Amino acid sequence: MDMYAKEFWFVVGSQFLYGPEVLDTVAARAAEMADWWNKSGSLPCKVVYKGTVKTDAEITKTMKAANADDACAGIITWCHTFSPSKMWIHGFDLLQKPYCHLATQYNRNIPNLEIDMDFMNLNQAAHGDREHGFIGARMRLPRKIIAGYWQDKPVLEELSAWMRSAVGYAFSRELKIIRFGDNMREVAVTEGDKVETHIKLGWQVDYWPVGHLVETMDAVTDAEVDAKMAEYESRYTMDTDDIATVRYQAREEIAMRKILEREGASAFSNNFQDLYGMEQLPGLATQNMMADGCGYGGEGDWKTAGMTAIMKAMAKGLPGGTVFMEDYTYDLEPGKEVSLGAHMLEVCPSIAAQRPKIQVHPLGIGDRQPPARLVFEGKEGPGIVATLIDMGGRLRLLIQDIEVIKPIYEMPNLPVARVMWKAAPDLLTGVKCWIMSGGAHHTVLSTAVTAEMMIDWARMMEIECVHITKDTRPEELEKELFYNDIAWKLKNI
Ligand code: MN
Repeated sequence: MDMYAKEFWFVVGSQFLYGPEVLDTVAARAAEMADWWNKSGSLPCKVVYKGTVKTDAEITKTMKAANADDACAGIITWCHTFSPSKMWIHGFDLLQKPYCHLATQYNRNIPNLEIDMDFMNLNQAAHGDREHGFIGARMRLPRKIIAGYWQDKPVLEELSAWMRSAVGYAFSRELKIIRFGDNMREVAVTEGDKVETHIKLGWQVDYWPVGHLVETMDAVTDAEVDAKMAEYESRYTMDTDDIATVRYQAREEIAMRKILEREGASAFSNNFQDLYGMEQLPGLATQNMMADGCGYGGEGDWKTAGMTAIMKAMAKGLPGGTVFMEDYTYDLEPGKEVSLGAHMLEVCPSIAAQRPKIQVHPLGIGDRQPPARLVFEGKEGPGIVATLIDMGGRLRLLIQDIEVIKPIYEMPNLPVARVMWKAAPDLLTGVKCWIMSGGAHHTVLSTAVTAEMMIDWARMMEIECVHITKDTRPEELEKELFYNDIAWKLKNI
């Protein structure tokens, strides 16, 4: 999916009460605003002014058209004047796209000398947006509310972030995930209701046998492998003499890409326990696919695979990285506690602080040959970790604020990509909160996608969202989780 091909419809509410002159002015200004946003270059997607709507029929028609238009990723509404909200009910009832209510005003300041009742009639967003907001609340619409002057940086930033969430929504609705093999035996958190996830998030999660992957690998030509090796050399530093092992990863990557492309899939999972007929666990192969936006989850973790793909789609063009991650071990020096994350192999190089090295080392577990992998350190910066878990009857998205730091040790004998971070509110309280919420050991770590984007995404998908921040207190979180349980049970009846 191309984020830059998506557009957002700007729909301005009004009514016939004010006469044609006022409506003409509103229309001209709304078009001017959309034009200004598009020319400002501060939004990731185009805004298209879709008209000043004045009747139930106009609004219903616009919402139906938005639903049917694949390019439309969401609608932005605003009421320059007053727009009686009963006429929005039918349209909002039909709307299937993400919705943002932008409470703004054409003029920044109140013109002291010029203000009269004509001005008040034309410029009454403070009035109109309240009527408009009521119906959103009354209908319990999942919506984003942004308030502020339409040219101001915080408004543009909030709107940009929401657009990315809406692109994540569209991406999720079309997402296909391939499972090579099943989940790791006996593990609970990587399980989940695939039918419920298909209904709620739109994901099609399908199994393909490892034998089919092996068959596809056998059909890969030497020329294809040569081309992939040239790509590896251009992206990474070859830090091994064992070229045959690296070529085997190239063969795996080419085959996996062929199957994903054929099936229209953007994410996959595999499992080191199910590599029947394969010589190596895909490491470099998986890492290089993730570098190009592919989602991945280890040990059959298709939920994390899906989230990695979605968050990568949302992050397009942003600085920072978005990677499949696993909490591994802590450094518990009092007051300086940090977490060290890595995986057996498969951390995406989008977060690498330096040019990754291709190395070959044995794996401590599994029964295959030593695989080639990328080794690097994560680049520091503020970020989040996010995990999607199945609570039985509903999905929960759990987000935690973190700060990626430069690793405090060199760890020369750890031959995998590694990322070290501090967690909010502090590591130990954060661990308590994470475990209390049922957060998985697998996450998507991102220094590109923000918590706000994920909260907005969860609201669009209509799933539960829990956010661990610098202000989170375990005793309050425990109550929140308890109330959520009751609320979601009622919601799902
Ligand atoms: Mn794992």
